[in-house]
Amino acid sequence: MRDTPRLYVARKLAERAEHALEQDQAHYVRDVMRLKPGDPLRLFNEGDGEWLGFLTQATRKTVTLRIEKKLAEVAPPPDIDFVFAPLKHARLDYLVQKATELGARRLRPVITQRTIVGRVNLERMRANAVEAAEQCNLVFVPEVAEPLKLDRLLTGWEEGRALIHCDEGAEGQDTLAVLKGLRLPAALLVGPEGGFTPEERAALRRLPFVTAISLGPRIMRADTAGTAALALVQATLGDWQP
Ligand code: SAH
Repeated sequence: MRDTPRLYVARKLAERAEHALEQDQAHYVRDVMRLKPGDPLRLFNEGDGEWLGFLTQATRKTVTLRIEKKLAEVAPPPDIDFVFAPLKHARLDYLVQKATELGARRLRPVITQRTIVGRVNLERMRANAVEAAEQCNLVFVPEVAEPLKLDRLLTGWEEGRALIHCDEGAEGQDTLAVLKGLRLPAALLVGPEGGFTPEERAALRRLPFVTAISLGPRIMRADTAGTAALALVQATLGDWQP
């Protein structure tokens, strides 16, 4: 079943439902995957789980399929938000895909003083999250939130959610022990390529729900740091342990 093509379909998935694919997915199924009527497909979304479907038509005009049966329930990852300063294109694409694979529940772009990105392309981010979910057999797609300025994000912070601040200026400490002392729900904050300003770091340090962690003696690029930190959080607080 794992080699059956898998598609994210944003519409309601239910037994015997008939679906006509949108143009780009129709092209992919008909012209790239070259599927023929009768071929199976796995269809999923974050509301209805994963379903088995079969192609019923594959013409230039339309590609339709019929949903047969449910294969898997929705499987949301642990309640860990990934809060990050958006980066430039390729690195942002990479970061969104890795955060999705690493089980971020929500992707929350934050605009800090040194963030060097103009308009944040949420559609592009969402497409990257969907693509990562399709390829990694996730029966879930993280929500991509609207970007917020750091101060707005902090003043509206959700009660009870631990904010783990990847602070490039944090002195070395036993990061694993610090993380193990926390509880979900949590969020992980990674800064822009230019890092956090001293004022931002001081403001973060003053907040009771913030825990600063060091990611070791080397300063990593933001996409590397985000990936490494999500791995640490999943391994200590998330679902990488039995
Ligand atoms: N230009 C900055 C570094 C920014 S690195 C400087 O030279 O100080 C981009 C982001 O990755 C940082 O804001 C931080 O969130 C994270 N990061 C990178 N290396 C880190 C480390 N060793 N410890 C904690 N966070 C780190």
